[in-house]
Amino acid sequence: MGSIGVYIHIPFCLSKCPYCDFYSLKYNEQTAADYCKAVIRAIDTSAAKGRAVDSIYFGGGTPVLLGEKLLEILAALKRQFAVDKDCEITLEANPAAMTLQTLQKLCEGGFNRISMGVQSASDRELSYLGRRHSFEQAVESVQLAKVAGFHNISVDLMLGTPEQTNASIDRFVQTFSDLDVQHISGYLLKIEPGTPFAKQQIQNICPDEEHSADLYLHTIEQMERHGFLQYEVSNFAKPHFESRHNLKYWRCEEYLGIGPAAHSFLNGKRFYFPRDLKGFLARENVWEMVEPDGSGGDLFEYVMLRLRLKEGVNLGDLNRRFQQDTAPLARRAEFLRKHGLVCFDGENISLTAQGFLVSNSVIVDLLEYC
Ligand code: SF4
Repeated sequence: MGSIGVYIHIPFCLSKCPYCDFYSLKYNEQTAADYCKAVIRAIDTSAAKGRAVDSIYFGGGTPVLLGEKLLEILAALKRQFAVDKDCEITLEANPAAMTLQTLQKLCEGGFNRISMGVQSASDRELSYLGRRHSFEQAVESVQLAKVAGFHNISVDLMLGTPEQTNASIDRFVQTFSDLDVQHISGYLLKIEPGTPFAKQQIQNICPDEEHSADLYLHTIEQMERHGFLQYEVSNFAKPHFESRHNLKYWRCEEYLGIGPAAHSFLNGKRFYFPRDLKGFLARENVWEMVEPDGSGGDLFEYVMLRLRLKEGVNLGDLNRRFQQDTAPLARRAEFLRKHGLVCFDGENISLTAQGFLVSNSVIVDLLEYC
């Protein structure tokens, strides 16, 4: 059995951003302390105890709000799992919620990667997004993380936001390239039903589909000009700084998720915790709460996830894993190659920049030939 990744969901934020659909509630010190205890109980009673772990990801929510309490969770993981000595340990952080002292303690305690939700280089765009920080504050936070000892820093950029321009994207990429950041995620804004953005019909002031496509292609160009290589539809990294944890999701490898709304894929099965903080806090055995989510890792899922990656899907590999006749898929890939949507050398299929732009349709199309 190979190493697994562990995801710990921290469902607390200072306030709710109007576009956000993640499971997070308003931060409260006592509830957060109780939550830490519940997560440690979950770790101590997990059926996966003893497995080798090579990536741990604290996401949310805003995990950094829990400060040094996160180290108690990390210590529990190290007690119960065989955590590699070079394990990637990521902390998601928000520029509005961090201090140098906290970052130093977390870095000394074993966190070695930080991922910050910056979202934009324009204060006007940030205020549309309801963010509690300015761009200058975000830049200072990256500087703080470096002083604290982090040498693997990722920042998030949001694309297709109200009034976004190529100039603000250029400023974003240039600034973080100058700051020697190693990884940038560039996600297109998705307006999720039920969020304040959906109620305000914010799409009316967002760039239209064609303009968003231009912003995405411009972003790819800028990233590559600054040495951030695209390795997934929305992710760019300096060589060897791809997110080990997120690669597990796209490569259909195993991971264990702990906390309300956290998903797992273990021993060929997918399951998840419901979005129920109260239940998670109250249960002695939180594993009784998990809901099955079907089997995972079948041919369709494997192809669908791998095509999100620049490395794409290898036909020989597909054959070995699933004893699959890949001739129809190869013929379709050759057809899409002629239309500039995929790269195909007879063995490996991967999406081009144009293909990534319409990745959902290209992937669905290819799946019909699996
Ligand atoms: S800080 Fe992140 S998780 Fe929290 S509300 Fe905003 S986008 Fe959602």
